[in-house]
Order: sequence, then structure tokens, then C-alpha cells
Amino acid sequence: MRIKGMLIDLDGVIYTGDAPVPGAAPALAYLREQDIPFRFVSNTTRRCRETIAARLRSMGLIVDVSEIFTPAVAAAAWLSKKGYYSCNVLFTGDMDRDLSAAGLSLTSDDPSAVVIGDAGDAFTYQAMTRAFRDLLQGAALVALEVDRYWMGPGGLMLSAGPYVKALEYAASTEAVLIGKPSGAFFTMALESIGIGAADAAMAGDDVITDTGGAMQAGMKGILVRTGKYRDDALRTAPVRPDYIIGSIAELPALLAREAGA
Ligand SMILES: [Mg+2]
Repeated sequence: MRIKGMLIDLDGVIYTGDAPVPGAAPALAYLREQDIPFRFVSNTTRRCRETIAARLRSMGLIVDVSEIFTPAVAAAAWLSKKGYYSCNVLFTGDMDRDLSAAGLSLTSDDPSAVVIGDAGDAFTYQAMTRAFRDLLQGAALVALEVDRYWMGPGGLMLSAGPYVKALEYAASTEAVLIGKPSGAFFTMALESIGIGAADAAMAGDDVITDTGGAMQAGMKGILVRTGKYRDDALRTAPVRPDYIIGSIAELPALLAREAGA
């Protein structure tokens, strides 16, 4: 099957830590040459679009800000549509810029929503308790991601998922998931390149969030054996990816093979 559009995870696929994955630049160049539109879909909730683009450029990759699709961008649209104009944000980094740019006011004073991403060291007892109290007051819980963990420089690190679960449990509520593996997130990203799910594939290093989520949304799933990839996660996954490749470097060969098949 010819793949006409791609969604590509960043962390663990295009880069690990501060270094690009070998072969990432030629793989992106191949997509451009072949006129295969793509979006980077990252659950990394520590950086705004501009910062992500600058970071990728510093690794020698050619990217445009518009090619980056993040949960913050999707969340801003979702909150505005729901008429929620104030939110208490529980994440770290400069992603608040994506929310403010969309006209949302960031406040911990009676917010209409609690927006939670990967907050790292900002997941303090105090911050979690404040968010818990906002939820009891009726604020909506909006999760930018519910990953269990990610691969940090020194090993696996807790992601937002465990903290989202804690707030859901404490406040007897359920979070609205905006990032991967939410089907709506994949659909919004595909709409921005004008490609239907049946003609698209998603490349990622997480067998649940990336390939599992994308396959549920009707896309092909391509698992890369870099980043957080682990054999036992693949063995116990409920859905087997359509393709498994060593790294993003093997993507051009896979696409060429499928185009010819
Ligand atoms: Mg990843």
C-alpha cells in the first residue's frame, strides 16, 4: 500500500536526548523529495512549537514550525471550543506560550480547567493539591498526555500519566485526553496535511501510544526500535504494529517498498 502521508513522533524517533537519531535527516529529506506530507506529533509537553523547531534545527534538521503538532496546540483549540477561557496549568517549560497565544488566561484562581502535561519536578505535593481542589470546584481535567514513562538521559522517567491517574482517583473524575493516543489528536494532525487515515502511517517508539493509537485511528503503525523501545513492551502489547524497523533511517526503504507493492 502506498503511504501518502506520515505522522512522526519526535522523542526516541528523530532524536534521543540532545542528539539526532542517525539517518533522521536523510529520512525527512526523502519525504520532502517524494512529496509525502508529514507532521511531527509529539507528546513532549515541555516545549512550545517555536522552541521545538529551534531545537530540531540545532541538531541540523530542516523543519518548519507549522510541521509541528503538539497537544498544547490541540488543547488550546479544544478549550476555546468548549468556552473555557482560564486554566491552571500543571506542566513545565514554555508550552504556556501556545496556550496564551490562543487567548487563554493562565491562572490558579478559580480556573475553568486544569491542564496537565509532563511537569517533572513541578509535580509537587502543593501543586497536585491545588489542582485537586480546582477539580473539586468543578474545573475540567485536561490531559495533554497520559504516557507512563519516557526515556531520559539517565534512564526511564515518570511521565504525566501516573499524575493524571492520581488526580482522577482523588477527585473521582475522568480526564479528557488531548494528546496521543487520542484518536481526535491523530485526526486533527492528519487534517492539517489533508490526508485520510487510510492513506497514512505513524512512526513511533511507543507501541501503545504511537502505533497502537494510530492503528486504532485507522492508520498504519510503524514501530522503531530506538528511544524507549523495549522487547517486552512489544511482546505484551495488545496490538502488533504493521511494521517494525530498526530506526527512522529505514523509513525510506519501507515507503519505497510499499509504493512498489
Ligand atoms: Mg517517543
